[in-house]
Amino acid sequence: MERWQYNSDSSVALLLCTMDIQPYMYEPYASSTDDDSTSGDSEEEAELNAHQMRLGNTNWCLCGKCVSAEAFEECVCCKEIGPINTKKETDAPITGHLQCIVEHPGFTTNCLDVWALQMAYENTPKKYRKANATVNERYRHTGYRNCTKWIWGYLGKNNRVVLPACVVKAIRDKFPSTQYVGFKYPKL
Ligand SMILES: [Zn+2]
Ligand SMILES: [Zn+2]
Repeated sequence: MERWQYNSDSSVALLLCTMDIQPYMYEPYASSTDDDSTSGDSEEEAELNAHQMRLGNTNWCLCGKCVSAEAFEECVCCKEIGPINTKKETDAPITGHLQCIVEHPGFTTNCLDVWALQMAYENTPKKYRKANATVNERYRHTGYRNCTKWIWGYLGKNNRVVLPACVVKAIRDKFPSTQYVGFKYPKL
């Protein structure tokens, strides 16, 4: 199993991709037992266990492209996210049936294409740009932002989304932390 190292920029992905629509793991539980603090606690415990069961494996992945993350918040598959499924279904007459959102040509164009990312970066307000970021970090952050916009459209200030592990991996693979000698992407 491939192991994906959870680097510091992943938290930026979470931060930037704020959303209203959240993966199921953040949805409030139906609360018929809310008035009972004991069962509330065990519910919390069960939830925590369910989260931890996702760590160190990819059994939760349904698209075949996710890799294990070090934070359970990022152990989410694209097939678990409603708006992503909707996007795939809507575009299926054009793209054909896709297993994973990273196979969508819109993902490649919007989130991995350096020229599209360069344009998007230029349109990114300064407050969303991380100071002293490396070129590849800038590409990754811009890729995360573009993906969020592409799937969810404009998100209000306090809305938060979590990008699925397959998406984060595809963007990290294209723009790795390691800088290669002779590595040539347009300037950001
Ligand atoms: Zn997956
Ligand atoms: Zn996927």
